[in-house]
Amino acid sequence: MEVTQTWKRRIFVGVTAAGLAALCAMFALNSPSKADPPTSATSVVLISGDGMGVQQRTAIQYALYGVNERQPMDALPVAGLLDTVPATKAVSDSAAGATAWSIGMKTRNGMTGLGPDEERVPTLLEIAEDEGKATGIVNDHDITNATLASFAAPINNRDKKVSIAQKTLRDISPDVMMGGGEGYWYPRGEEGMIPDEVPDEDKSVGRDNLVEEAQADGYEYAYDRETVDDLTGPKALALVQDSGLQRWKELPGYKPQDDPYYVPEADLLAKALDILEEDPDGFMLVAESDDMDSAAHEHDGVNVIKTGKTINAMVEVVQEFRQTHPDVLLIVTADHETGGMTIEDPIETNTNSDGDDPVPYYGDGHLNNAGPNGQVPKRSGPFKIKGTHREFKVDWTTPEHTGGYVPVTADGPLSELLTGVHHNTHVFDVAQQALTTP
Ligand SMILES: [Zn+2]
Repeated sequence: MEVTQTWKRRIFVGVTAAGLAALCAMFALNSPSKADPPTSATSVVLISGDGMGVQQRTAIQYALYGVNERQPMDALPVAGLLDTVPATKAVSDSAAGATAWSIGMKTRNGMTGLGPDEERVPTLLEIAEDEGKATGIVNDHDITNATLASFAAPINNRDKKVSIAQKTLRDISPDVMMGGGEGYWYPRGEEGMIPDEVPDEDKSVGRDNLVEEAQADGYEYAYDRETVDDLTGPKALALVQDSGLQRWKELPGYKPQDDPYYVPEADLLAKALDILEEDPDGFMLVAESDDMDSAAHEHDGVNVIKTGKTINAMVEVVQEFRQTHPDVLLIVTADHETGGMTIEDPIETNTNSDGDDPVPYYGDGHLNNAGPNGQVPKRSGPFKIKGTHREFKVDWTTPEHTGGYVPVTADGPLSELLTGVHHNTHVFDVAQQALTTP
């Protein structure tokens, strides 16, 4: 939609102001990217903003970058739309959404990396490994989250997180694994390295000591900023603070920058690229920000926008890497939209349904949910459009996911194939082609 409007605006300006020559020049400017074709060393980086629909991307754009400077994820030269419909329902969860990318098949909600009849086919990580490439997964939430499990741990129930940790390590064994959720990697009763400040959430619930097992298997292990800095690879496991940006909701006064166990996801991604670039055959890397989805479930527009910073910072890290490694295909998209979020004029009332788990969890929800007369809750705005005096607020239709198209933007080899409207399985088709070019 955004693309169409931009086109219309450009065509209008071209015809009225500068004539046909200028119009032609503008078409040339917007021609598909002239990236080099893939080679046997081509790499793929897939970044998912979980729950990041058109309106989330637009709100992040306005609040953080204003109306003129295009945010990094939207400044990529190729844009398209992907459907999100899973195999048997209208609206997708993260498991089915990410499985469409990882194996190229629409599947049932709740299943990661398996076809609709629970059939096991290679995921993009396995395809990359078969090509001699390195592999990696990065998250700001637990590594065992549905999106990454769709690539690294095929299973019929996304909630079996201890099994997912085991499968990730033992079956597909990505070279680089970074994110939160250390409790799934340590056996019950063993504390791990990160203080258990929210006991019911942080405690170890694992069966085996998978950290020791990983180390015995040649993985370096990190758990805070310092030890992440020290990682050199080629195999690395980093289990750091889970959802650091959101922990203030459970721990009053918590500041991620003061927590040595919190490592910004862009820093994790930069370290992952440092390690993976050592493989001369290239790599496949999947990174997800799950905070975006959590924020939208909670009807927390403030945190949706804050998470947008994380995603744009990750895109900047990859784009900087691509300056010296142009043979990297970068794809930025989402598994589905969350919350039915819409950008509205601040004078409108909020028609929202109540959010899930409003913040803070111990509060009564008034920060997130509309008042009895439709008063705009604080976490829905108003937000200033950067560099202007204009303001907007957001509204919500559901605390759950919605089923519309999501934007996809891309750069690098074969990125032009993502132009247009496609099934979400098309991400698999394009990435597979990039990874398997002889
Ligand atoms: Zn969700």
